Amino acid sequence: APRVRFAPSPTGFLHLGGLRTALYNYLFAKQRGGAFILRLEDTDRARLLPGAADAIEDMLEWAGVPPDESSRRGGDYGPYVQSERLPLYSQTAAALLQTGHAYYCFCSNQRLDLLKREAQRSGHVPRYDNRCRRLQPEQVQQRLAQGVPAVVRFKLASGAEPFQDMVFGWTRHEVAAVEGDPIILKADGFPTYHLASVVDDHHMRVSHVLRGSEWLISTAKHLQLFRALGWTPPAYAHLPLLLNRDGSKLSKRQGDIFIQRFREQGVLPETLLDLVTHAGSGFDNNRIGRRLEELVCEFNISKITTHSALLDLDKLHEFNRVHLQRRIEDEEKCAVLRDELRQRVLHTHGSQISDRAVLEPLYIQRVLELRKGHVCSLRELLNHMHAYLWIRPRVTRQQLQEVSAEAENIAAAVIQLVASGGSFESTEHLNTELKLIASRLKHTKYSGMMRVLRLALSAQQQGPSVAEMMLSLGEQEVCVRLQKALE
Ligand code: GLU
Repeated sequence: APRVRFAPSPTGFLHLGGLRTALYNYLFAKQRGGAFILRLEDTDRARLLPGAADAIEDMLEWAGVPPDESSRRGGDYGPYVQSERLPLYSQTAAALLQTGHAYYCFCSNQRLDLLKREAQRSGHVPRYDNRCRRLQPEQVQQRLAQGVPAVVRFKLASGAEPFQDMVFGWTRHEVAAVEGDPIILKADGFPTYHLASVVDDHHMRVSHVLRGSEWLISTAKHLQLFRALGWTPPAYAHLPLLLNRDGSKLSKRQGDIFIQRFREQGVLPETLLDLVTHAGSGFDNNRIGRRLEELVCEFNISKITTHSALLDLDKLHEFNRVHLQRRIEDEEKCAVLRDELRQRVLHTHGSQISDRAVLEPLYIQRVLELRKGHVCSLRELLNHMHAYLWIRPRVTRQQLQEVSAEAENIAAAVIQLVASGGSFESTEHLNTELKLIASRLKHTKYSGMMRVLRLALSAQQQGPSVAEMMLSLGEQEVCVRLQKALE
């Protein structure tokens, strides 16, 4: 069974790009009965963001794609945080030094800066000139004994060995021609990304690496490291970039792509999963409304294309509307929604609530069923337009009469309809009855009658259909409101 990993650096919070990478790993693992590992790559000490590591795992859990192995969950291949694995990296660096695949470099920052500036002046890409490769063993020993700060660099082989990427196909990068030998162990004893990533992928028995295509070139280096260490590398699948719909880079600075933010705005986790997979490829068809279980079944890694995935955040509301509806139609999930809505109603409208009956599960259930497919979030059910559901409006007789001179007759006729019973089955049913009343009342058009009723029931001029409002409020409350409006 495959073992895959999501390996974020806790230098920021989880955003849509990261969620997508995690999700594809998750889908790949679950589809094949494998394990999904969360590994925190925290070796860049200067850029660490306090709290980020925990928040990333929290968000994966919230999104429904929790790791099988992580420092929180445990597992047989821990620790799952790189800063707790330092001896492993230094041992590996020592082994590479021993076999001549790596060497100590004593070049000062000033010298490296100088190289950089010279390259820039002559229009070249800065590249370390591998000078310390040529140091004699005695020179190295002497400097180490003197305590000159040293890093360890890996000797890049020249030439490009092709490898087969599961998405990009046969790929080759002549890294040594472009870059100097990369640092693998820093002067502070911490490894760099390349070494730590290779060591961990090996020791954690990672079989497949699914990561963003920005790492494609690094893979050439990683393969050289694997070879130098005598280890078998995993298979690689590089995922195309996730971009905005207009092709621009997803910006974390806009702040609107962080998972935490979506959560606060009432976006459902399955909406986000559906949206990021919808943007990308990897599925035979791209219908809206897929839940995680369906994504697991339908995911097909051979369908991932090399085109960038374009994310359309304008579709977020539509996706959420569909997924909210699916939750409402699921008995177990709906019970949770009912509780949540109840809490929110209490919190938002509290003391203004017209009747404790609006907090009853039956009432809330009816509201959810009638409004599903119309609203994009629970939060919407608390806005101005939906206040009538929870708060009895204050409407005067005069206001009603301004809408129609027949207001009193209309209200009386509807009260009578309610009293006669039997019409509160469906909106269609109710509409037929209302049309009948309109045709029987002289001087009254159906549309005018609807305006009167809407105002009396909600103090609003817009909102759901009158029949739907009547159905959700229930017979008794409809009568109370009509009567009050006539007082
Ligand atoms: N720590 C890297 C990142 O932040 C992981 C890249 C990889 O998956 O190898 O994206």
